[in-house]
Amino acid sequence: MSGTDFYYESMPELARRLVATMPGNEPKKTFFTNSGTEAVEGAIKLARYATKRDKMIAFYGCFHGRTMGSLSLTASKSTQRKGFGGLLSGVEHIPFPYAYRCELGHGPETCGAEILEQLENQIFKRLFDPDEVAGIIIEPVQGEGGYVPAPKFFLQELQRICRKHGIMLILDEVQSGMGRTGKWWAYEHAGIEPDILCSAKGIASGMPLGAIIARESVMRWKPGAHGTTFGGNPVCIAAALATFDLIENEYRQNAADMGDYMFAKLADWTKKFKIVGDVRGRGLMIGIEIVRDQRTKEKAADLRNAIVDLAFRKGLLVLGAGENTIRLSPPLLIEKEQADFAARTLEECIREAEKKA
Ligand code: PLP
Repeated sequence: MSGTDFYYESMPELARRLVATMPGNEPKKTFFTNSGTEAVEGAIKLARYATKRDKMIAFYGCFHGRTMGSLSLTASKSTQRKGFGGLLSGVEHIPFPYAYRCELGHGPETCGAEILEQLENQIFKRLFDPDEVAGIIIEPVQGEGGYVPAPKFFLQELQRICRKHGIMLILDEVQSGMGRTGKWWAYEHAGIEPDILCSAKGIASGMPLGAIIARESVMRWKPGAHGTTFGGNPVCIAAALATFDLIENEYRQNAADMGDYMFAKLADWTKKFKIVGDVRGRGLMIGIEIVRDQRTKEKAADLRNAIVDLAFRKGLLVLGAGENTIRLSPPLLIEKEQADFAARTLEECIREAEKKA
């Protein structure tokens, strides 16, 4: 049995609950997939199908998946693209607003105006007429690329530009969604509304499920235009419904509270440690950028890797993100005691790495 040919009640039930997390009164539709990359593939197809255009714009540093369409949008590490030959044509990348390294010296909520100007005055004038652009895809908080939140005004302006030109604003919330930042979706921090939303990862607590959600006026596949056998299978949907209850009743609030709690513990680490250049994030999505020298901001990938390794040996699992950032992305059920352990252990590791630097 699959959800493509015969429906079972749990599938529309999950779709209804997902749609209810989104703003606006217009009816919406959901399409279920098996993974994040498939959600992004679906979003590319939907943006093209709905607009009858084929160009796409994405951001440097962003990660959208590893299948050929999503990989064409991914611009995080060249090894992820190397060796696979020509990718989708008609894709341009522009810089992501990265406040810590903003060349114009803007702060976390003001960086990026010049990127939007570049989009309108360079890309739209010299490369793609905006009437040919199907979609602009962005992670509201860049994940794999370094845990960098996009400023609120930037997302709002991006939405304005998309609306002006009839371009689909596609938000990839595969990593930042499902309560991780303390809200259902990270875009809510900016008060915007996506045309197409991609979700996966946390949606079913580790079971393979993804989704794209769009307004009904956007998602109008003709029968047979798009489909999947296993996407939205009953086992994964059941896991997602159970996950939904937990996030709704406890974990979203816990992510907001524990995110604040953890951030307060780490916020002054740029003063405490010479090798911590920046601490940033939203909710339980916190990045700690490791540098050789706070003044030059030279990236210290070796020190970051040493810290990740030391933490592993002391019983704390953290991952890198980008070239030189430590990503803190704990389970949404984290408690104070565990957060204290994480902060304490990480502090020890950074101190040890700093001594050797
Ligand atoms: N989009 C984002 C933002 C991701 O972080 C990822 C995975 O890390 C993907 C898409 C791809 O998801 P998947 O690995 O489920 O294909």
